[in-house]
Amino acid sequence: NTGRPVVADLDAAALTTLHATLLDEYAALQARGLRLDITRGKPSPEQLDLAQPLLGLPGEDDFRAADGTDTRNYGGLAGLPELRAIYADLLGIPVEQLLASGTSSLTVMFDVLAYAFLFGRDGSPQPWGREEKVRWICPVPGYDRHFAMLEHLGIEMVTVDQTPDGPDVEAIARLVADDPTIKGLWLVPTYSNPGGETTSAEVAARLAAMPAAAPDFTVLWDNAYAVHHLTDDESKAVDVLGLAAASGHPDRFVVFASTSKVTFAGAGVAFLAGSPSTVAWYLRHLAFGSIGPDKVNHLRHVRFLRDADGVRAHMHRHREILEPKFGAVLDTLDARLGGTGTATWNTPRGGYFVSLDVVDGTARRVVELAREAGIALTPAGASFPYGHDPRDRNIRIAPTFPPVDEIRVAIDGLATCVLLAAVEQRLS
Ligand code: PLP
Repeated sequence: NTGRPVVADLDAAALTTLHATLLDEYAALQARGLRLDITRGKPSPEQLDLAQPLLGLPGEDDFRAADGTDTRNYGGLAGLPELRAIYADLLGIPVEQLLASGTSSLTVMFDVLAYAFLFGRDGSPQPWGREEKVRWICPVPGYDRHFAMLEHLGIEMVTVDQTPDGPDVEAIARLVADDPTIKGLWLVPTYSNPGGETTSAEVAARLAAMPAAAPDFTVLWDNAYAVHHLTDDESKAVDVLGLAAASGHPDRFVVFASTSKVTFAGAGVAFLAGSPSTVAWYLRHLAFGSIGPDKVNHLRHVRFLRDADGVRAHMHRHREILEPKFGAVLDTLDARLGGTGTATWNTPRGGYFVSLDVVDGTARRVVELAREAGIALTPAGASFPYGHDPRDRNIRIAPTFPPVDEIRVAIDGLATCVLLAAVEQRLS
């Protein structure tokens, strides 16, 4: 019991009194002339500083890979073997099935979809671009850029709910069972964006085994936050390629990861993994668009990260920077909104976001109130396909970039807006 009133239980008189108090509080907030931004899911400068030695690597005389390859020259489409070995170890994937690529995993995801549209996957009856309709399952809330990519390609999105163990696997099984237009599913299996859920081994096994009407049903397994832990309760990578092979659907999953939030976001390395035939399919098409990736950047990353334990130790230093920031969000939400019945939120064990659900029908109003008080929030609905949150309740909070004191002020101001919007709605 926090001693704070549950807004839904207040009578008209109490609501009017609370409304007046909140209006005063909001006016004071506006008078502060804040300019705060909690929209950006990107690493802070201090996090980027952790990888500063990369700028001096591999160094003027260091350009040979372990096998003697001159990394300055063309070739090696699959990426530098020793860097692939590090991520193969981290993700529990055989090194032959994992490629190191350019700087953005999002680009690799788009390439995979573009190849499927132009040429089809190995098991496709025809290129996806020739299909009358292509539909895709999107767990919500989810990553806005995933949805924007599908929208750009004209793929129709069908939503399923995220649960604490991953996407609603029963709903997915029903959708894929007899609808061949459903070609795929997005999934952020570890510390998802924005809800922080990790897909359990059981859900992964079910996804691997479920019968699908489309012979080329594809799960894009975007493990962007595979090593981005915030607590000692660390999620482990599920061997989803092994599960898929054992279930008779070896090509179902395409796995992605990157060092965007390990080293530099924009100058890191992206990875793709899949069955041997998926990897061959990808390279076959890629070979027309590239003679080889930036192996100097790959070598730089090998020198800096050294091995899987090197990555783990490095990620621990990220955690030391991020823990207080997430703590500031959670403490402030709890202090201001706990017990009021106006919001629920997750306590992430990793990743980059806190997902806040406010009273149904008020998220857009909260974002508007915050904006007018100088606090930039991600647009309400951003975590849903077409920007449409059917319950208008979800707000994504990105605490990694701003300093801790700014986060406290921003979340405190946000809480005032959440309460004010909830009371306004009851009075309307
Ligand atoms: N996937 C997810 C789930 C993300 O949240 C992000 C960035 O926010 C990305 C991919 C982007 O990855 P990259 O920088 O490798 O393109």
